[in-house]
Amino acid sequence: MPEVIVVGAGPVGTLLSAELARAGVDVEVWERRPERGGGSRAIGLHATTLTALEAGGATDRLLAGAVRVRRGEARSGGRLLGTVRFDRLDTRHPYVATLPQAATEAALSVGAPAAERGVRVTGIRPDGDGVTVTAADREGRAPIVVVAAGVGARDLVYRPGAPARTAYPDRYLMTDAALPPRPDAETALVHLAPGGVLESFPLPDGHRRFVAWDAGGSDEPRARLDRLRTALRERGEAAAADSIAEASSFAVRRVLAPAMRRGRLCVIGDTAHEISPIGGQGLNLGLLDAATLAPLLIRWLRTGTEPSGSLGRWERERLSSARTAGRLGAVNMRLGRPLGAAAHGVMTRSLGTVLAATGSLVPRAYAMGFDAAARRR
Ligand SMILES: Cc1cc2nc3c(=O)[nH]c(=O)nc-3n(C[C@H](O)[C@H](O)[C@H](O)COP(=O)(O)OP(=O)(O)OC[C@H]3O[C@@H](n4cnc5c(N)ncnc54)[C@H](O)[C@@H]3O)c2cc1C
Repeated sequence: MPEVIVVGAGPVGTLLSAELARAGVDVEVWERRPERGGGSRAIGLHATTLTALEAGGATDRLLAGAVRVRRGEARSGGRLLGTVRFDRLDTRHPYVATLPQAATEAALSVGAPAAERGVRVTGIRPDGDGVTVTAADREGRAPIVVVAAGVGARDLVYRPGAPARTAYPDRYLMTDAALPPRPDAETALVHLAPGGVLESFPLPDGHRRFVAWDAGGSDEPRARLDRLRTALRERGEAAAADSIAEASSFAVRRVLAPAMRRGRLCVIGDTAHEISPIGGQGLNLGLLDAATLAPLLIRWLRTGTEPSGSLGRWERERLSSARTAGRLGAVNMRLGRPLGAAAHGVMTRSLGTVLAATGSLVPRAYAMGFDAAARRR
């Protein structure tokens, strides 16, 4: 019997299993997908996360293939409204490290046990001294089970309706594209326009991620691409409009579970909390869940005594960080919604003043400086 079963080999489950294995814990990972997923979702890793991952060596591997984004700019109609200076943060990593999620997962998987793939967990039953995990073709048991199985696995661990949900009306178009060289290749850009926001983030090898607020319309691939091209042209990104070849689309919701542990069962990452990708903190939250939970589980297994006070504090702090990140994501979305010309004028005039007046507050909030994990270092 392993000491820990981790359900889900996404980035969060992979980090947790690597951290446990590094301490000599016997850990199994059960993953429903036969192969690791390819598409890119999260691209930004923040200062607090990079600091938390240093001990296991993941930070060096991540930074080796990442762009270090030290500065962000808010623009409107080609005019600079204000800057967000990550390089002025008082941290060992004064930047946002950007790389595709698949590259992040590969860097996190060094030292992690190979996942048992093609195993879809269908039931999880905690009892007095362990937790039983059921899949179609097997049953397993471990003293501790951690569920890191993303948004689709909530019904395994929560009563239907127990996690609090907020649905947002917003939809976004997204693409990652190779671009011709440009002077602002390492600057994050937020173009605010009366028709809605366009965000543009550097990625390695001359690529950029574009995300545009979408008024909606046909979901045909060609129609999505045309709408994103129009958004790019209207916001001064004509060269990018010519370079992109596809556009995906996503909707947004916010979900927060009532709890992240019950006895010997813990729940982390997107299974416990889902926030808007606008703001780019969902993966960071999950990685910080894993990085801060691992030492508590190791202590529990090595001493044989549940660190119940520390686990209770961990749970309160993680839920509080998820709540804060969810609120920040909601503020970001509000700033990026379409506005009438007059309201847009007021908003863009005040934004520059706010960015200048608040100094490091905005970059610190983006860099997860509010997270409980940041206060511990
Ligand atoms: C468009 C988009 C852009 C984003 N951008 C950012 C960003 O820039 N920065 C950021 O921080 N976050 C971002 N996010 C959020 C980020 O991608 C997620 O928070 C992150 O992937 C969550 O990781 P996870 O390991 O918790 O879940 P997942 O990545 O979903 O992994 C869960 C794993 O569990 C497996 N699994 C599921 N059910 C079962 C089961 N029953 N049995 C066994 N295995 C199972 C799945 O196959 C999967 O491999 C973005 C999200 C989207 C959609």
